[in-house]
Amino acid sequence: MEWSTEAKSAWKDYYRELKKRRFGGLLGPIVKRSIAHVLRLAMIYAILDNSNLLLPVHLRAARAVVEYGERGAGSHPRMVPARARRPGGAIRRPSTLRLRAVTDRYLSRLVELCGVDSFTGDLAGVDRAAHLLAGWALDDGLEVELVPSADGLHLIASTQGAGTGRVLLIGHHDTVFPPPTAVERPVSVVGERAFGPGVADMKGGVLIALQALERLAADPSGPHGRVELHCVPDEEARNVEPHTLERMRGADASLCFECGRASGAIVTVRKAGTWLDLTARGRAAHAGTEPHEGRSALMALVHEVQRIRTEIDGARPGLTANITWFHSGDVKNTIPDRAEATVDVRAMTSADLDWAFHRVGEFAAHDGVEVRRSDDRGFPAMTRAGRLADRTLELLAELGQPALEEMAGGVSDGSWTSEIGIPTVDGLGPVGALDHTEDEYIELASVESRIEVTVRLCRELGAGSV
Ligand SMILES: [Zn+2]
Repeated sequence: MEWSTEAKSAWKDYYRELKKRRFGGLLGPIVKRSIAHVLRLAMIYAILDNSNLLLPVHLRAARAVVEYGERGAGSHPRMVPARARRPGGAIRRPSTLRLRAVTDRYLSRLVELCGVDSFTGDLAGVDRAAHLLAGWALDDGLEVELVPSADGLHLIASTQGAGTGRVLLIGHHDTVFPPPTAVERPVSVVGERAFGPGVADMKGGVLIALQALERLAADPSGPHGRVELHCVPDEEARNVEPHTLERMRGADASLCFECGRASGAIVTVRKAGTWLDLTARGRAAHAGTEPHEGRSALMALVHEVQRIRTEIDGARPGLTANITWFHSGDVKNTIPDRAEATVDVRAMTSADLDWAFHRVGEFAAHDGVEVRRSDDRGFPAMTRAGRLADRTLELLAELGQPALEEMAGGVSDGSWTSEIGIPTVDGLGPVGALDHTEDEYIELASVESRIEVTVRLCRELGAGSV
């Protein structure tokens, strides 16, 4: 087998690069044979192509496989001593990383935290994420408390300055991605964006809050009062208040770290929302021989979902009622005795949601069919916190960031703190988008300003000037 001219020169450069690398810890011995692995794999790819010439494409493919493996090994925290850790895993890739405003610390923590699978309900996973955060909070000089619940550990990390009052920083460490997503798809950085499960929703936001707390804790005589991070393990699947809501009560402000919108906007208003499950139970019958004996659950529920659409959807400003799931009938020749549907309801105010909740349940009489509605009261609305929202926008503008705000249809735990009377702003996490998809990302350039806005808000709130 021979080298093509281009492949040969590409190999020389790559060889030099690999030779220069130095790793400490366990990673060193593991990646020691990379040069040989790349060469062998490249030859195998050439053979698979029936080529006796080793081309750049074979080299690139081999290199991609070996680097993927190295990143996987390097993203394990115990593999590398702290000083050797670099953003994007332990492998130094300075050519693709332009970190400008972002500290190494933020990105290396993001890689570690997003590398932990913490799917809602996977208790071992969410608790691993909580412990990781708790360890960092202790390193940062914070007071740390882990509060057990049926859905996993809640983390409360706090610090106290010389000022007065209490500020909450709100986050969650569960994600919507089942294992082994985090292991299979570690954080990657392309240009100015970081991709990975939970970078935007909302591990990236939790780390902004933690880093802001760290800065405040380093200045115990600063003007901030008490500042508490409340990080919950179950936000993505919960339709009721957080287990630790009572611990939040009485605070003077709540800053929530779901990601900022793609435009850079923060979130100042959230709709109230819930999912109502509808069930209908009738009587099955053979559709050919004795259809009159049947009582169709399907037809009754079709009638009800039509009614919900016409009577509730759009009945008040911003009120939506959409049928997002419907199931009935498993056999072609049977009158179905069961039907189920889900209504997604969103409203501008908690009062409107309450009205819709009751209207959904006002079912017509259906001969021989009983229709029921679940009792999920859902998330309340997050109302705009006048002065706090205005001041947050001013601070963003002072830092040269877009001073924009948006209303969100989605709910967050900021909705709960708002509901119990604490002025709340959300979207203070990094600017990002495409949550709950493989393409979820954050803009690294927004990280530093989000941390800084948080620190300044805490100081001003503690000094009583907001
Ligand atoms: Zn979230």
